[in-house]
Amino acid sequence: MSAVLDELRERARRVGREAAPALEGVGELEAEARGALAALAAEELTAWTVPARDGGAGAGDLCGADEVSVRALCALRSELAYHHGMLDVMLVMQGLGSYAVARGGGDELRAQVLGGVARGQQIAAFALTEPDAGSSLADVATRAERDTGGNGGGGWKLNGRKTFISNVPLAHFYTVLARTAGEPGDKDGLSMFFVPGDAWGLDLARFDVMAPHPIGDVILKDCKIPDAFLLGEEGGGLDLALGTLARFRTSVAAAANGFARRALDESRRHLASRKQFGKPLAANQGLRFDLAEMDTRLRAAELLVDEAATLADSGADAGAAVARAKLFATETAGYVCDRAVQHFGGLGVKVGSVVERLYREVRALRIYEGTSEVQKLIVARDVLERD
Ligand SMILES: Cc1cc2nc3c(=O)[nH]c(=O)nc-3n(C[C@H](O)[C@H](O)[C@H](O)COP(=O)(O)OP(=O)(O)OC[C@H]3O[C@@H](n4cnc5c(N)ncnc54)[C@H](O)[C@@H]3O)c2cc1C
Repeated sequence: MSAVLDELRERARRVGREAAPALEGVGELEAEARGALAALAAEELTAWTVPARDGGAGAGDLCGADEVSVRALCALRSELAYHHGMLDVMLVMQGLGSYAVARGGGDELRAQVLGGVARGQQIAAFALTEPDAGSSLADVATRAERDTGGNGGGGWKLNGRKTFISNVPLAHFYTVLARTAGEPGDKDGLSMFFVPGDAWGLDLARFDVMAPHPIGDVILKDCKIPDAFLLGEEGGGLDLALGTLARFRTSVAAAANGFARRALDESRRHLASRKQFGKPLAANQGLRFDLAEMDTRLRAAELLVDEAATLADSGADAGAAVARAKLFATETAGYVCDRAVQHFGGLGVKVGSVVERLYREVRALRIYEGTSEVQKLIVARDVLERD
């Protein structure tokens, strides 16, 4: 079993080593994203974001044929993030954006879409967040109504605005959480839909965040889709959305560990080679203590990820373990990258230095797929429910 994971890590390392230098030189965000996806697909790493049943990689003993292995995702993401943030994002979005199709799509839709996702030919996106619905998904206001209009009617009509949606404007499709009943604030009445990127009534508005990441708004104005694009049961959308987050959240922690491991390696090398006051910086006890603290926290984060991923792959309830891993690993990565910037002095904030990039890359991980505060709420609930 660990042989499979070791081999995956090695393949991800190879992709990282070969693709990262080329990606650095691209200079244009969308070309960089497409380049990253092509590199992942060429090594068939994108296949690990789709269940084997639907054309993804055979995860063997890691998990069932209708599941995506969390341990495999974690192995891949930690190596990819070590080398380049864009490789990491483009890998995980294939799974995050398509998982609701794997879970709730009919046979025909799954057959049309998921093989292409596994091969990196169909780009996926996951659209939950809205201007007034972030941590609280019950506040989703985007409406999906049965289309009773012309041409014989039928299907659904969607209206609303999604924001902070990764893979805008590249995605071939969006899995969209929308309200089919009730009012914003109601946990019931939410459903999940498959919306093609070229659907009539769908508009996109891209924007930039502090580290390179394709992202933007999805605007739905009388956006028409057929009946078959409802994923799962009507009213079952929140469960599908939360199930998706539960499956992929541990891998955010693994990516955080990859970024942090890179920052620690950069610090270690710099402190050993840079001399001030006639001796290497690493000769100063204060800086050695820093390295020890960074290394120890990172190791703890890696163990939490292993625990959560193993539990998730076993099919057991992994909610609290996943939340602990995500909370601790992403906060640790913030700490480790911040110390690394400090160790580099002025070079640490010079645009183009590795630690400067890492410092920006890791910040969003404490926010997306459930903020650190949301993870604390999950862990606290688990603590309070103990006998
Ligand atoms: C780079 C990036 C990529 C993203 N990609 C996607 C994507 O692909 N699809 C998608 O749907 N969304 C995506 N998001 C959105 C992301 O999931 C949300 O930003 C996140 O869920 C937080 O929601 P919010 O931004 O509305 O913050 P808010 O919910 O408004 O929270 C603001 C602050 O208040 C805190 N807070 C909120 N409620 C509580 C509480 N009850 N107790 C204590 N503190 C609380 C939060 O922790 C946070 O610190 C992305 C975001 C980023 C930054």
